[in-house]
Amino acid sequence: MLDGNCVFCRIIKGEIPAAVVYEDDKMCVFKDLEPKAKVHLLAVPKSHFKLLSEAGEEDAEILKYMLTKIPGIAAANGCENGYRLIINQGDDAGQTVFHLHIHILGGQPLGDL
Ligand code: AMP
Ligand code: ZN
Repeated sequence: MLDGNCVFCRIIKGEIPAAVVYEDDKMCVFKDLEPKAKVHLLAVPKSHFKLLSEAGEEDAEILKYMLTKIPGIAAANGCENGYRLIINQGDDAGQTVFHLHIHILGGQPLGDL
């Protein structure tokens, strides 16, 4: 289920432009607007929920699927030498978009970034 007020749902619906690098029926991957590394992608499920703790059975299946797709997507987008995945959860993590997303960071040595 998508949420009309959510920026990532609106990207999924094609209402807001984004630099999409991969999409299928379960997930969408696009470039972060404010990249924190040479490669900074966001992988989002085509299902609106904020936290891992809120994921239903179907959401969990999609997350598992996303983890199987991300290595190939990362490699095809400049992360052949490795990458870092980050999922911010809640206020202390600084989560600003309340649609679960996996940051894919790479394209350079990341160090402590
Ligand atoms: P988080 O702090 O984990 O919630 O990260 C949200 C990320 O979404 C930030 O890195 C933002 O730069 C990114 N972001 C917000 N709006 C957009 C957008 N319209 N297109 C692409 N990235 C976005
Ligand atoms: Zn959403």
